[in-house]
Amino acid sequence: MSERKIVRVPMLRTGLVRESDGFVKKHLSDFKIDLLALCEFGCRYCSSNTGNYLRINRPRFADLTRAQLGERILPSEDPKLRFACEGDVSAQLDRELSARSKSWGTGKTLVFSMLTDGFSPWLVSEGFTRAALDLLVERTSFRIRVLTKNAVVGHSEWIEYFLRHQPRFVVGLSTGSLDTEWARAVEIGTSSPRARLASLRALQDAGVTTYGMMCPIFPDVIAGRGLDELIDAIRPARTETIWAEPYNDRANWSDVRSGYREGSPGWEWFTRVYERGDQAEWSRYATDLYVALKLRAEAEGGLPKLKYLLYEHGIVAEHARSYCDPRGLMLQSPASPEGFSHNPHIRAVQEQIGRPSVWDRVASDHSILEPALRSLPTRVLDVFEDGEWKPLLPLEKTS
Ligand code: SF4
Repeated sequence: MSERKIVRVPMLRTGLVRESDGFVKKHLSDFKIDLLALCEFGCRYCSSNTGNYLRINRPRFADLTRAQLGERILPSEDPKLRFACEGDVSAQLDRELSARSKSWGTGKTLVFSMLTDGFSPWLVSEGFTRAALDLLVERTSFRIRVLTKNAVVGHSEWIEYFLRHQPRFVVGLSTGSLDTEWARAVEIGTSSPRARLASLRALQDAGVTTYGMMCPIFPDVIAGRGLDELIDAIRPARTETIWAEPYNDRANWSDVRSGYREGSPGWEWFTRVYERGDQAEWSRYATDLYVALKLRAEAEGGLPKLKYLLYEHGIVAEHARSYCDPRGLMLQSPASPEGFSHNPHIRAVQEQIGRPSVWDRVASDHSILEPALRSLPTRVLDVFEDGEWKPLLPLEKTS
């Protein structure tokens, strides 16, 4: 990123290493560390801008921005803006870790980073990234999950660093598209998707443990061979785990749409779903993406690695049946105290799965066919019960 607009903001009083509530449910990490307050990269779909921390501090940080840059701009208005902490984050981390024993973090994963990118160019060039990782390696026992969009992690210097500290590191480069032009407009300042994937492969070839992070995969990617090409590029067999998710609007859909050429399929999709409110279109996309990922993973024996993150409140009735076989699926919307989804269509599926039925008996007797049958997309699955064929779920009236 050529022009940097760095604003210094006070460091969090709660400390740099904290529990990562949002990532626990995704199985990504137990703890997190962020060295910046606002990421140096400016992905237009980033959910951090609407997170509690930046939301609560918005007026205060806007005042600091005016005082330091001479203009009152918000993170959502300028992707080149970033907030760095006042003082020295390495010294702060050093102080925090002095109060802990080396065993802190045993059996736990710490993500580096969650709300920002710990390998963003300014942090790397200033030495903050390396200093923080050295402290975490030497003074804690966390497993460290590097999550970045900077291809620098695939350079020899960092590969050697990760190898030197195996098995402490697992490294992933978040990539949900292979389209360089699109990424330049939407993932501001990040390494190109091809550079990220080349880095991932370099890490894999060198023997560093890696994971796949296809979050989010946009609707235009799943057309044609796009999704297969993306999956091929991360080399699933060489990854430990693969996370994937559809795009979820965080009050930023019009910013994301502006990364597409007006009138292009991507532009039209955003217009249809968010400007005109076509919820079923989002539901179809999220469901097709899940089914396609699952079928591919199943065909290659990689289903246990798949973690498809779905905020299921947006799934409509006609697509709920595609979730009869929830393998690889991780529902993310808040659940009821009994663990059921608040989406009534998904809840109906959950209740059906949880109850012994003719379907379950058929499935257990036909264990070879069962995985494939259960993966059938949006198809009416009938069961033979009480002398007649019945739909597995009650059919909804669609007109
Ligand atoms: S790299 Fe990650 S944290 Fe940074 S702006 Fe992009 S999505 Fe947000």
